[in-house]
Amino acid sequence: MPSKIINVKEYTVKAHQRQIHTRVFNFICKQCEQPTQRETFGPRPLYCETCRAPQAPKKSAKALNKRKPRPMTYKSGKDIAG
Ligand SMILES: [Zn+2]
Repeated sequence: MPSKIINVKEYTVKAHQRQIHTRVFNFICKQCEQPTQRETFGPRPLYCETCRAPQAPKKSAKALNKRKPRPMTYKSGKDIAG
């Protein structure tokens, strides 16, 4: 089958509303290796409700945003003064 490389232009999709549905997945949890069932909007989950490892990074990212900015102490300033 003949093939060639083409350039695909970047494009953005206008904001819109879309109805999505959950799907119930039956799978084996990667962590505890127990057969489990989860309902999710996204792709097939890897972990059961208990383990849920992939969700952790998202939560920590939110927590980082909540953290108040600290005033910076510039050690180099001391060097200039002294
Ligand atoms: Zn598990």
